[in-house]
Amino acid sequence: MAKQRSKTVYSLTPQQEEELLFPVVERFLDGQKAGEIIDAIQAAFSLKLGRELVYKIVRSAVRKKLLHLCPPLDKGLSLRLTECFGKSEHKVHSVHVVNDRASTSKDNVPVRTAHLVLAKIRKIGQRRSAVHLGLGIGHSTLLFAQTLGALVRSDPTLPKLHLHALSPAFSTIDPLETPIGFYSYLAETYHGRTPFEGLFAEPLVSAGEDYEHMLRHRIVQRAFECKGDIDIIVSSMASSEDEHGYLRAYLDGYDTSGSLERLEERGWRGDVQLLPYGDGGAIELSEGTKAVTLFDLRELVQVARHADREVYLMSGPCSKCDVSKDEALLPLLQNPSLRIWSHLIVGLETAQTLLDKIAPASP
Ligand SMILES: [Zn+2]
Repeated sequence: MAKQRSKTVYSLTPQQEEELLFPVVERFLDGQKAGEIIDAIQAAFSLKLGRELVYKIVRSAVRKKLLHLCPPLDKGLSLRLTECFGKSEHKVHSVHVVNDRASTSKDNVPVRTAHLVLAKIRKIGQRRSAVHLGLGIGHSTLLFAQTLGALVRSDPTLPKLHLHALSPAFSTIDPLETPIGFYSYLAETYHGRTPFEGLFAEPLVSAGEDYEHMLRHRIVQRAFECKGDIDIIVSSMASSEDEHGYLRAYLDGYDTSGSLERLEERGWRGDVQLLPYGDGGAIELSEGTKAVTLFDLRELVQVARHADREVYLMSGPCSKCDVSKDEALLPLLQNPSLRIWSHLIVGLETAQTLLDKIAPASP
């Protein structure tokens, strides 16, 4: 009778939530109604949950990657876009359209990318004992690393991972959104500690002599010497018009070299790992600010063309303001000198925009 009179609770301590995650989620997945779950928890824990708390606990399990949902692909749209943009004399460059219709999550593109990369890791693992993964900066890559970390952590059938940073961290970036931050999700796998090659360099230097000087630093040389080992590169991109893009944020906040004006004169549309491009191709400034990255755009194109190496490019809206990157994505699709991707992952809205812009006559 005492249990019947328990006071309903509408919030939980972290310890209570930890304890209730498993029984609540297990019953939820088993098809029990919220009322049944509340009764079961009250009987076992003498705690009467408010109905909303049941759903909150399930959402928490998803956020903590304890309950994993993999968004599906729209195979028809993926094929159409691959036919439009993926033709190459070297290999097929694949477009993957995540079917995020009616989804409430903004993580679908990076989550699906993690599953695609996991399949590639497995495939490479059939012939090699270790797979080298290069990660760039960005919020999408953070979500990708969280998901991949949860998928690989305790799987003994996977090969060892070896991580490489494509870009250094710097002050306008949330430290969690840098390769060093991502390392925490992938540092421990079934095989033990994951080796990590950091790029411990100044993030942006003056083009020319300063850049050459920076490359001579032994610790930077070490990172560059290892880049040929990288099998899989994962990156996102930024629009030049988005104030949250790291290159834009750096130039707006710190740069006094006039690089922003020079880039705008040259038709800057977007950047990948702080490497700017326009419709005509990569924009390389002979003076002004230059980002230090393991690969330049020309090299990324080479990696993407390689039979045994892959570049996964994620292009979802900005995580901070939701602005679309579709306009900035177009040169990466239309200009072969910018085909830095062998796998492009986008949501439904971007897919439709691309079809409307590029193939308006398509049935
Ligand atoms: Zn933004």
